[in-house]
Amino acid sequence: MDSLASALNDHYGWDSFKPGQRPVLEAILAGKDVVAVLPTGGGKSLCYQLPALIRQGLVVVISPLVALMQDQVKQLNRRGICAVSLHAGLDPDCHKERLSCLRDQQLRLLYLAPERLQGTVARKFLEGKAANGDIVAIAIDEAHCISSWGHDFRPGYRRLGEIRSLCPDVPLVALTATAAPQVRAEIIRLLNLRKPLVQVCSAQRNNLCYSMSRRSEEPLRNILELLKISRGAALIYARTRRSVEHWAKALQGVGVSAIPYHAGLNNQSRHEALTYFLEKEKPVLVATVAFGMGVDRSDVGLVLHLDLPSTPEGYLQQSGRAGRDGLPSDCVVWFSPGDRTKLGWAIKYSSIQSKEGEATGTANFRFEIAQEQLRRMEAIAEGDSCLEQALLLAVGELGAPCGRCDRCTSLRPSRNWSDKAMTLLVSLHDNQGVAIHSLVENLSKEVDKGEERWGWLARRLVQEELIRESNDGSQKLFLCESGRYFLKEPWPLKYAG
Ligand code: ADP
Ligand code: MG
Repeated sequence: MDSLASALNDHYGWDSFKPGQRPVLEAILAGKDVVAVLPTGGGKSLCYQLPALIRQGLVVVISPLVALMQDQVKQLNRRGICAVSLHAGLDPDCHKERLSCLRDQQLRLLYLAPERLQGTVARKFLEGKAANGDIVAIAIDEAHCISSWGHDFRPGYRRLGEIRSLCPDVPLVALTATAAPQVRAEIIRLLNLRKPLVQVCSAQRNNLCYSMSRRSEEPLRNILELLKISRGAALIYARTRRSVEHWAKALQGVGVSAIPYHAGLNNQSRHEALTYFLEKEKPVLVATVAFGMGVDRSDVGLVLHLDLPSTPEGYLQQSGRAGRDGLPSDCVVWFSPGDRTKLGWAIKYSSIQSKEGEATGTANFRFEIAQEQLRRMEAIAEGDSCLEQALLLAVGELGAPCGRCDRCTSLRPSRNWSDKAMTLLVSLHDNQGVAIHSLVENLSKEVDKGEERWGWLARRLVQEELIRESNDGSQKLFLCESGRYFLKEPWPLKYAG
């Protein structure tokens, strides 16, 4: 056994590394910067914890969520390792006590919320420690949060570029589960990483089975059916706090002890929900997607989304919370065509709200990206091709059809939509810039009923790039160059549906 493997065994009792862990550890210990893209459950925490234990020095971890930090600190403390977290919301006494821990030479892991870096205490501390050569590495967990291309941009992460100048000689390691190539590039640029090792492991997960379908009018019965056949813990995601409450109540009403979780609950209730989820035998948690990042429960057998997820990358991360134990697990999405409009408005609203701290240009840019991502997500959910393949493509991975998802296993007969497409394109030709809903309304009045079908077809033609859709949230449609070709000389368009 080499020294790294024996350190793993000494400190954690495990005999082997998970894929990607060893090269990341070797690079950190050699003083190199690292970008590590390892799937959810891939063991990213170990990559920054072990170097602190091997070197008997300090590793600073930037993390976006208080619950995440607390969870890890608790686990480390339980094993007798000195770790502490600093974030907002600590009462003054507790804060003071934690600050005094900073002087402890035994301190191995310091978890910081990103905004702490703006405070003088943390800055002085880091500068001093770094100058003395006492910091083994600085880890930026969930590093995709720095990228406005990513699916979970957090303004607080944007200023992390300062770390480099604060601690010029300390290796920086950025970790995330999902980062498309564009996002990786942005992480490297914004954190000023120097010739980093870029360690990427596939996000493909053999034990997950995806399915996406239209939500029924009354989903409660379907939820119960899914819960009946699923194993272990179940995570049910709803879009808003209100719907989280609604579904938790509805499930309780039929005898399922479901617990709600969302950011609007007080600390105590959130803590209870987290504990319930981590410790109960077969918990059912109804939550907003804010719940789950980094939550380490391995036997989640079902991740159910009751609405269209807002981005493919985000969805990969959320669905990846299923089946960390490697056993078969289901990832189910129920969506409805109205979801995207609702999500679009929600994004618009939150981008207006966040404008204060952000230049209008940036906010608009992010809004447009969000529209684009919603469109890609909807295209995957409504599309005919392998769901896993389509999701992985969104993070820059090209693979074969999975053979497990509902697209791979069901026979969905396709037919030629060329004639209908022609009708739609002709109508659009005379009416460029029309909003999708008006176009659909006109067609169902003038040609044939079935607004849903027309809406679906319009979205498919956007996907086919015969039509372009505006990114301002109003979903205005325009004919593309290839759409004009189609009008002159149509070709077959085969879709299941
Ligand atoms: P991530 O942050 O990448 O989603 P975590 O760091 O939370 O994943 O680790 C997921 C789980 O894998 C944890 O329960 C952790 O203890 C376990 N783990 C990490 N590395 C190893 C290893 N080398 N051998 C066995 N289990 C491991
Ligand atoms: Mg993690």
